[in-house]
Amino acid sequence: MNYNVDTRGFFGSFGGAYIPEMLVPNITALQACYREVIEEPAFQAEFHQLLRDYVGRPTPLYPARRLSKKLGYPLFLKREDLNHTGAHKINNAVGQILLAQRLGKRRIIAETGAGQHGVATATVCALMGIECVVYMGEIDMHRQAPNVQRMQMLGATVRAVNSGSRVLKDAANEAMRDWIANPEDTHYIIGSAVGPHPYPDMVMRFQSVISEEIRWQLPAQTPYTLPHSIIACVGGGSNAIGAFARFLDTPEVALIGVEAAGKGLDSGETAATIARGREGVLHGSRTLVMQTADGQITEAHSISAGLDYPGVGPQHAHLARTGRARYVSVTDEQALAAAHELARLEGIIPALETAHALAYLAEHDAGPDDPVVLCLSGRGDKDMAAYSEHHRKEMSF
Ligand SMILES: *Cc1c(COP(=O)(O)O)cnc(C)c1O
Repeated sequence: MNYNVDTRGFFGSFGGAYIPEMLVPNITALQACYREVIEEPAFQAEFHQLLRDYVGRPTPLYPARRLSKKLGYPLFLKREDLNHTGAHKINNAVGQILLAQRLGKRRIIAETGAGQHGVATATVCALMGIECVVYMGEIDMHRQAPNVQRMQMLGATVRAVNSGSRVLKDAANEAMRDWIANPEDTHYIIGSAVGPHPYPDMVMRFQSVISEEIRWQLPAQTPYTLPHSIIACVGGGSNAIGAFARFLDTPEVALIGVEAAGKGLDSGETAATIARGREGVLHGSRTLVMQTADGQITEAHSISAGLDYPGVGPQHAHLARTGRARYVSVTDEQALAAAHELARLEGIIPALETAHALAYLAEHDAGPDDPVVLCLSGRGDKDMAAYSEHHRKEMSF
């Protein structure tokens, strides 16, 4: 079974590049050169040097002793929250800014939901002295105000998106429009393993440093050679695919993606695309999409802005269909409770997105000799308002 992209840009029947004619030259040029550019030894050397000296990699693989004791199996947290800017998104942003430089682009655009990708992009643009415009839904700008301030301090222009439901998918639409209007000098840094080919494969390649490190850290630092299972939350799917990538062809390692069920899978307010979506085209690729019977994209709902997306990366759709990875979901409430538990047991405040992966742990089937690795995709500073509101509600009962 092949879990990687084929020469036409597909993962099984998912993926491809469904794009407006105006973008064909950009995308075709990117498709033609990205592998060669990325695989160049000088590119790899610069990428890994920045990951080490600027991002702070390798990130620790931390044995969570108190939580492990409670769960009954050894749990290791892959600490992407300790990266510069506080999440895994910077891995991809560093890779793509180096690519943009080599393509001679002078302007960067990006979309952002939780603001983490916007911050990561604004950061690498400041680092390289390149102009940066970030599109962000108006609702998300309110939910994630500290990240808006960060982007502005880093010199980026944040453009509020008032169309549609004013969240991530609308911001992605606006960024696409900008790219169509500025095809020559602009590179679009997509923040997840979504979008037209080559983005899903390219983002997976930059994020796969996560699983590359897990692969050597586990045997070097623990009594185990391979993880029993790897668990990660799935919005578009970049931290999950990064944590899965080097284990796709090792079938004894179970791969589990955790989606946001929102208020419940059948509440009508959910973001669990793999559980509730059907095949369709969204943001340039054929994938699973939450839609009405006649194909209108439906609004996603999740308390976490980073998971609030009605699509999912095409590689995940393929991994779900082939059964190589399994996808589960947890609700807003379960995620909030799990974030509080991690804070109390391990002294780590996770991002709300990550809290979804954590909430699944209690249901996970593993024994006392089965090492489980969870991708702790980001830190929770940006989510303190949601956490304190939840805490107040709990206290008032
Ligand atoms: C953006 C984000 C996610 C969701 O994006 P993926 O592409 O699915 O990884 C998860 N965790 C954190 C901390 C994020 O910032």
